[in-house]
Amino acid sequence: MSLFHSLRFRITAIIILVGIIPFLVCVPICLCVYKSSSIYTDGTNLMAQAHQYNERNDYSGYLTGEDDPLLDARLKGIASSYNGRIMLLNSSLKVVKDTSSADIGRIFIWENVLRAIRGEQLYYYDDDAKYLTVSVPIKNKEGDIVGVFIINKSMDYLDQNINLFVSYILITGVIICSLAVIIAIFSAIRFQRPMQKMSKNLDAINREYINELPEEKSYAEMESISSKFNEVIGKLHSIDESRQEFVSNVSHELKTPLTSMKVLADSLNGSEDVPIEMYREFMVDIGDEIDRETQIINDLLSLVRMDKSGAHLNVSPVNINELIEHILKRLKPIAAKSNIEVVFESFRPVVAEVDEVKFTQVVTNLVENAIKYNKEDGWVHITLNSDHQFFYIKVEDNGLGIPEDSIDHIFDRFYRADKSHSREIGGTGLGLAITKGAIAMHNGEIKVHSKLDEGSTFDVRIPLNYIEKEVR
Ligand code: ADP
Repeated sequence: MSLFHSLRFRITAIIILVGIIPFLVCVPICLCVYKSSSIYTDGTNLMAQAHQYNERNDYSGYLTGEDDPLLDARLKGIASSYNGRIMLLNSSLKVVKDTSSADIGRIFIWENVLRAIRGEQLYYYDDDAKYLTVSVPIKNKEGDIVGVFIINKSMDYLDQNINLFVSYILITGVIICSLAVIIAIFSAIRFQRPMQKMSKNLDAINREYINELPEEKSYAEMESISSKFNEVIGKLHSIDESRQEFVSNVSHELKTPLTSMKVLADSLNGSEDVPIEMYREFMVDIGDEIDRETQIINDLLSLVRMDKSGAHLNVSPVNINELIEHILKRLKPIAAKSNIEVVFESFRPVVAEVDEVKFTQVVTNLVENAIKYNKEDGWVHITLNSDHQFFYIKVEDNGLGIPEDSIDHIFDRFYRADKSHSREIGGTGLGLAITKGAIAMHNGEIKVHSKLDEGSTFDVRIPLNYIEKEVR
């Protein structure tokens, strides 16, 4: 089993990813939000402050070229409190005051300045220089715009905060990742343990050390899998048992006629001057045993073919009335030997999609049984009926009936209700097993009601249209 396909690896990977991904996604988003909200807050605050400075101070002297040392000192104080710089531009966008004195006399043609001279107040953050620049218009007493007031504020504190934040996050991240890895490994081991246990137990079942999985109490799912496994194992055991029983039954059934033939042949070989009549009589008996052996083999072959071919039925529309009449024509002479009356009653003409050969076997077996397990002067009634979905065949007799404790077994292979009688009658115990198998292949059903010494009724129900079962 490759490591990447193992449950342990997948659970570990999922827990680690679930622990780390939100961290990796959230941290950059938080940093971004912190940075932009700080810039926005500082920008709007600075604009409000610039507006206040404009209202409190009169810059008209500067704008006309006068010196004002008091105002100079005040502006320098404000600029240094921002760790930045203040500039005043006149209406021609010429720098008339600069607290850093670097740009005095320069003309500033910058978008924000142009917009400020038109009356807007704006802020701009320079990510490379880490400076926040605010530009607001300067108005005279009449409210006319006479210049632009610019404040630069150093935003170094933002980077310092972010760096501090990142170093805390890294430490937390390392702790979270280590915890995620440890939890992931432990949970994977814990999740996997019951499966490893089950795999070991299945191995033990395979090697026949144990017969079933021990009770599993770890998780509900494992409990259900293990109980289902036990059901399957139970079924396999019973299949194995019935296979063994079947093989021993087959051997026994095939050996019986051979033993009889051997006894008959030995007694002829062992005696001297055997009269020809006795030879004939014994040969007739040997012939009967050969017929019986052939019948058993034929029945076995029918069963095997049915098991093997599964869904393969040779289905075609068949006139069921004609088919039953044809079968009865063949069986009536046999019934006549015991003076058994065979009556067929059909309620309506029925044409159904069936496999003619297998369906003939079904009707023949049921009617043959009704005749075989009957009494002198008895009767057999066969009725045929249908509705829009199914057709129904009922085979009823007033014969020997089936003992109550045998009814559940008569469809089993080699089962005979009355062994001594059946042997005398000549059954193999396979007829009803074949019948039930053939009916099941047609998606039909067979039911039996019987009372000892009163008679039996076999009810068959088969769909008029054959629907092939899906083979998965
Ligand atoms: P068999 O070859 O012995 O007839 P089946 O499988 O056809 O085998 O029948 C199984 C057993 O069911 C029979 O041995 C018989 O005891 C009983 N049985 C079947 N049909 C009838 C019936 N119509 N009346 C009484 N017993 C029946």
